[in-house]
Amino acid sequence: MLDCIIVGSGPAGVSAALTLRANGKSFQIFGSAELSEKISKAELIRNYPGLSNVTGKVFCEALQAQLKDAEIPIMEEKVSGVYALKDKFSVLTNEGGAYESKTVILACGVESVRMIDGEEAFAGRGVSYCATCDGLLYKNKTIAILCTSKRLEHEIGYLADFAKHVYLIPMYKDMQLDRENVTVIRKMPQKIEGGMRVTGLRFPTAPAENVPELLEIAGMFMLRESVSPAVLVGGLQTEQGHVVVNRKQETNLKGCFAAGDCTGRPYQYAKATGEGNVAAHIVCEYLSAQKED
Ligand SMILES: Cc1cc2nc3c(=O)[nH]c(=O)nc-3n(C[C@H](O)[C@H](O)[C@H](O)COP(=O)(O)OP(=O)(O)OC[C@H]3O[C@@H](n4cnc5c(N)ncnc54)[C@H](O)[C@@H]3O)c2cc1C
Repeated sequence: MLDCIIVGSGPAGVSAALTLRANGKSFQIFGSAELSEKISKAELIRNYPGLSNVTGKVFCEALQAQLKDAEIPIMEEKVSGVYALKDKFSVLTNEGGAYESKTVILACGVESVRMIDGEEAFAGRGVSYCATCDGLLYKNKTIAILCTSKRLEHEIGYLADFAKHVYLIPMYKDMQLDRENVTVIRKMPQKIEGGMRVTGLRFPTAPAENVPELLEIAGMFMLRESVSPAVLVGGLQTEQGHVVVNRKQETNLKGCFAAGDCTGRPYQYAKATGEGNVAAHIVCEYLSAQKED
């Protein structure tokens, strides 16, 4: 079993990984080889100590080189659920992977797209964040998909293969999918509705020609780069979308730590790397204490 699993490959996750490596711990970091869009998209970084006036691209390349030097590969799978068991964590990914670790560091950043009314309430009851985990449940049914990143377009194609009809709300430019059973809507929905399960998606006004204000759907997929930590980890304490942590980056769940933007403002690289470093050090202390017990 791994000592730690890090969810997220932004500055917080990278910093945690480097510190765990320096302390000889076994771990896996999940995210993307590009690390984080929030690094590569930064035009000019002026406030990171030691790097003045560098582009996000340069910063990203520096972090990638550091990971390579430390022989830390990034597992390019999206974590779909973290389950706190008695004295370990089970981590599942969208690609069907299942991993176990003694501790977890959440470094998943924050999603700038706001949650839709009804989303949290219907999570697991028709609202899904994982195409490959839940897609088959909607075979021959009508579903809606909200997708925030071109990188996730393949998941739309996967769902369209099973579904009878798909209402697609792409929140990114350059959408290239062309399927007969997909209706594209370029308007933000207002509310997910239903009873025991999702039955409809409401828009403030008719979202497109021949498309009604209330779409009848059996399921709603939210394809986002990051999932809200509360949805990712059952029982995790959050406040206004941020993970509640103390100065040791401990969450309310034993062995689960959090770092970076997901713990709250200010959203800054220096805060993220600092918290990632603290979380990794406390993970090491936690593992030593477990050994002594
Ligand atoms: C355009 C722009 C410019 C900025 N400029 C500056 C600046 O000049 N100075 C500054 O200090 N800050 C700046 N920021 C803010 C800075 O980018 C963030 O504070 C920082 O990136 C936070 O790091 P993080 O590691 O917490 O999260 P992120 O950088 O958001 O990284 C999180 C990573 O986790 C991955 N992830 C999320 N969920 C999962 C999952 N379930 N499974 C696997 N991986 C997952 C995401 O894909 C992402 O790669 C800027 C932000 C933007 C958007």
